[in-house]
Amino acid sequence: MSFLIIDAEVVTLNKISKIIAQAYNESRKALLENEAKTICSEYGIPVTKYTLAKTCKETIIAAQQIGFPVVLKIVSPDIIHKSDSGGVKLDLKNITEVEKAFADIMKNVKIYDKNAKIIGVLVQEMAKPSIEVIVGAVKDPQFGQTLMFGLGGVFVEILKDVTFRVAPIIEEDAFEMISEVKAYPLLKGYRNTPPIDINSLAKLLINTSKLIIENPEIKELDLNPVIVYEKGLKVVDARIILE
Ligand code: ADP
Ligand code: MG
Repeated sequence: MSFLIIDAEVVTLNKISKIIAQAYNESRKALLENEAKTICSEYGIPVTKYTLAKTCKETIIAAQQIGFPVVLKIVSPDIIHKSDSGGVKLDLKNITEVEKAFADIMKNVKIYDKNAKIIGVLVQEMAKPSIEVIVGAVKDPQFGQTLMFGLGGVFVEILKDVTFRVAPIIEEDAFEMISEVKAYPLLKGYRNTPPIDINSLAKLLINTSKLIIENPEIKELDLNPVIVYEKGLKVVDARIILE
């Protein structure tokens, strides 16, 4: 049995170090969304289903395989904020919409940065709406890898309602982090909205802590947004910046 466990660990490490090595080789510090999501998956973090497609034809095939509605997102090492570039198209319901979105993204991105190197688009399942949270990590010069948690949108951007812990964290820390943001009552259920899956959220924080501790090359990590449901959750966007 122990051999099997060792094997699994080796595979995991190889997959992640390969992604990191390739980025360094190409002088990239920002991982592509698909690379960041692959690393998340290795740590048991649920992400939206995705396929990297290089042409419009590949995009349509991927959309049919994933199932409508889908999302298309630009994949480019030169574009970090994808929606700012007009590179995100949501809720595409059929082939016609996918074809148009593909053409629009290519046009928008060229206008935004005519020199941007385009690898393709990431075709994703469209996650159902629910409460959005963010999980982040930064390397603090004094304290080292530090985890951040908060609710998405106005809660983080305007109210700065976020909480921090130095990694690694244990289960108790994770539940504390979740319950100490001011918006916590929203997570517990409010009027017509049901409570969300706090246990999955705690697991996400613990797995993210593990991810950043075991991969010290990571300088910044940003899971924004993560959509949390009554049962389970999904990371919709993942960004990883290397040292
Ligand atoms: P960026 O942050 O680089 O602009 P995102 O991947 O976060 O790009 O996409 C922008 C927004 O689109 C997200 O904040 C989210 O609201 C929505 N979105 C992105 N991907 C999905 C998806 N697969 N399902 C549902 N909504 C999505
Ligand atoms: Mg985002």
